[in-house]
Amino acid sequence: MAPINIVVIGGSFAGLHIAHSVLRDVPDAKVTLINPSTSFFWNIAAPRIVAKPTAFRPEQYLLPIKDAFASYRADAFEFLPGTATAIETTAKTVTVKPNEGEAKTLSYDYLVIASGSTTSATNGSLTGTSIPFKQSNHNDMEQLIEAAQGHIAGAKEIVIGGAGPIGVELAGELAEAVERSGNTGKVSITIVSATERVLPMLKSSASAAARKMLEHKNVKVVTSKRVVRVETPADDSSSWTVSLEGGDKLSADLYIPTTGVTPNNSFIPAHLLDKDGWVTVNKEMRVQSTDGSALPIFAAGDITNNSMRLSFKAVEQAQVAAANLKAEIVGGASIKSYNQGDSIMMVVPVGETGGTGQVFGFVPFSFMVKIIKGKHYFIDKAVSALAGKA
Ligand SMILES: Cc1cc2nc3c(=O)[nH]c(=O)nc-3n(C[C@H](O)[C@H](O)[C@H](O)COP(=O)(O)OP(=O)(O)OC[C@H]3O[C@@H](n4cnc5c(N)ncnc54)[C@H](O)[C@@H]3O)c2cc1C
Repeated sequence: MAPINIVVIGGSFAGLHIAHSVLRDVPDAKVTLINPSTSFFWNIAAPRIVAKPTAFRPEQYLLPIKDAFASYRADAFEFLPGTATAIETTAKTVTVKPNEGEAKTLSYDYLVIASGSTTSATNGSLTGTSIPFKQSNHNDMEQLIEAAQGHIAGAKEIVIGGAGPIGVELAGELAEAVERSGNTGKVSITIVSATERVLPMLKSSASAAARKMLEHKNVKVVTSKRVVRVETPADDSSSWTVSLEGGDKLSADLYIPTTGVTPNNSFIPAHLLDKDGWVTVNKEMRVQSTDGSALPIFAAGDITNNSMRLSFKAVEQAQVAAANLKAEIVGGASIKSYNQGDSIMMVVPVGETGGTGQVFGFVPFSFMVKIIKGKHYFIDKAVSALAGKA
């Protein structure tokens, strides 16, 4: 019997989980996983990785994807390092530009879109300097991370745009790195927030705690000022002027934007996207077409129109998508649905000594944040995420 071809686009939290789940439970499946990088990136630890090059070893945060699938039948799994460039929903095909060799077209019986999101710091779209907070969508993560570590280590005036969790975590890590290198007073770190408090999505006591910790680490905190422009003189790309709402200007030799994520959707047909470019899914994680046609396509993780773009939410969505995909192929099982809920679960280290956050409506004590996340950024969980067990 011909195998059931399942193509998974994106090898990160969501795509890895679904690929493993199908391989474990569908004997007739042939899973093809497409991802530009041959490694899975534990980007949760990115703020520390880029600020403190020796905090973790590369093999702890860049893990080979192919090896994690070695236990399955060789004819049941294929890892295809490359980039999906087009989906044809009528012909049920995906076009792929492999990292090596000619473009090829794959037929699918079922398709999973798990291509996630990127940030402007990652793709360097604003400043030309990549600070990789996510997968770069190329096979160059090790070089990019090394280059980012070098840029940061050499910078004297760092301005961070945005004071959400990534901005606050990064500021805390940078401040500690400066202190440890004996450069206190020689390197300035400024974090700029458009809102009147840092971490505006959390309770005000969490915001106040984060601000106090940052200022204690000599980070300058600017609130209620939006960054309106970032410019460099044409002849000197190492000096930046960061213009703030109201006319203030900051000089920087490194500007790192940390606001917002954008969808990795360049290959996805418009009829599968909402007005902001995210893939429209229903509660069963089935992709919805604007023309109302039923499609054998599921999606999960940051790429979907579910607004909570967090790794544990990506995995929750992947669990639902995988269960419903398997139920459709094998039959018998009940249909699962995903509801992201509205409670905020966030733990935000401010360096290695403490932090803040919000868990089940409570603001955790600083020492708890240190124990839960601040010591290691969950780096030991990278192996289980890669194995689809997170
Ligand atoms: C600095 C930082 C820290 C974070 N910390 C936390 C945290 O502490 N806790 C938390 O819950 N969440 C955190 N997040 C959010 C978390 O990283 C995301 O929610 C998670 O990565 C989403 O996983 P995903 O599998 O949906 O997609 P992604 O991780 O975005 O991965 C998508 C994958 O698809 C690939 N891809 C893209 N386009 C194509 C294509 N055309 N063809 C093939 N492959 C493609 C990408 O290269 C990538 O490998 C953080 C995010 C950032 C930026």
